[in-house]
Amino acid sequence: MPKTIIEPFKIKSVEPIFMSTPEERERYIKEAHYNPFLLHSRHVIIDLLTDSGTSAMSSEQWAGIMRGDESYAGASSWEIFYDEVRDLTGFEYVLPTHQGRAAERILYGQLGGQGKVFLSNTHFDTTRANIEFGGAAAIDIPTHLAADHDSDYHFKGDIDLRRLEEEIAKHGAENIAAVVLTVTNNSGGGQPVSMENARLTADICRRNNILFILDCCRIAENAWFIREYEKGFEGRSYREIAQEMFRLADGCIMSAKKDALVNMGGFLALRDAKIAEACTNLLIITEGFVTYGGLSGRDMEAIAQGLREVFDTDYLNYRIVSTRYLGEHIRAKGIPVLYPIGGHAVYVDASLLYPHIPVNQYPGQVLVCELYKRGGIRAVEIGSVMFGKYDEAGNLIPAASELVRLAIPRRVYTQSHIDYVIEVFDEIKDAANETKGLRIVKETPFLRHFTAHFEVAATAAAAA
Ligand SMILES: *Cc1c(COP(=O)(O)O)cnc(C)c1O
Repeated sequence: MPKTIIEPFKIKSVEPIFMSTPEERERYIKEAHYNPFLLHSRHVIIDLLTDSGTSAMSSEQWAGIMRGDESYAGASSWEIFYDEVRDLTGFEYVLPTHQGRAAERILYGQLGGQGKVFLSNTHFDTTRANIEFGGAAAIDIPTHLAADHDSDYHFKGDIDLRRLEEEIAKHGAENIAAVVLTVTNNSGGGQPVSMENARLTADICRRNNILFILDCCRIAENAWFIREYEKGFEGRSYREIAQEMFRLADGCIMSAKKDALVNMGGFLALRDAKIAEACTNLLIITEGFVTYGGLSGRDMEAIAQGLREVFDTDYLNYRIVSTRYLGEHIRAKGIPVLYPIGGHAVYVDASLLYPHIPVNQYPGQVLVCELYKRGGIRAVEIGSVMFGKYDEAGNLIPAASELVRLAIPRRVYTQSHIDYVIEVFDEIKDAANETKGLRIVKETPFLRHFTAHFEVAATAAAAA
């Protein structure tokens, strides 16, 4: 049998990619102040900015869009959506929201507040923001095995169980609002969480009477890794594996913009009637009535269908293998990547690629601009532009690492698009020694990475 794993779909509707020359892109990125968030999307050739809301929908999802029942109450689209989410998660109470963070605001607003603590393998940034906005604290306790970026340990998304017990003892179980397991661990490199780790987390939560929530927007991708690498799951379907993980938890938050294969949407699902009732009140005030929340009927149809398609064996295998294809190929060229390759993205360590560029000249932002100039590829810096802070004297306190994320939209790009990206890295590597740093010339106090302006730094090093 041929070994090549092909895209398990045919293309029915296409969108043009507008080609550009390196000279044109040099101008576009300069006009965007060396910040790819400020580029026009039509000036981008391959857009790897995010995998969120960028999936291509299937013909069956589009058919669902046409079937959408837009009745205010009791719509058939709600019943289809509810049945699918209920069957997958096992949770009786399902609250539809316009995206993941709306579900977070409702649940964590309800559970959190001053003096409360949330513990997680890693809180995603909107998760942390919603928790902190409500006055509670969000503490990340990823496994120490994740700190080694080069080992081939397969479950670097795990939570550190010893620290989990320690933090519970330190703050008192009654002050822990919830333990949130993010699967896969997005901010931790898209690394998966093992079933063993989820089970032991559930045990600790149960013993301490603490709520256990899954941030499950990539739970299908996580299930692929469990079947591939964890003992005892060889013959199981991906959906069964996900269902087993849901059974361990008390509820879940989902951004449908990831594994539900749609462009907008989310939900919150819960086992406990009392928490669900309190959350439902907030849903009605801030999102919408219980049988649609933040979604239209057509959205609920597309999500229900997406949740079925994402567990398809051929789809999931293609998805993870194609992400890995990019990562392994650039790694073989000597580009430093976080290893093993995660489910939805490849992370490059820009500080190792540009050892001559100091952190206050933002090696990650430099690589992001190089990718654009040389290939029209858009990626995102996850380093000191995004997470850097200043001390009182105005010196940069850098982020823990200077990464660039190449996130792969689902079902959007073919292998030749990815081969093109791999080829662009040859040029980037050849030019690495002569590549100059950047300095920030304009920024905002919060979330500066979206809007900051940069200039090419005149000299290397300490001046800034
Ligand atoms: C995207 C994401 C969210 C937030 O979802 P939105 O739909 O963007 O609001 C929460 N948690 C994780 C892990 C995510 O990746």
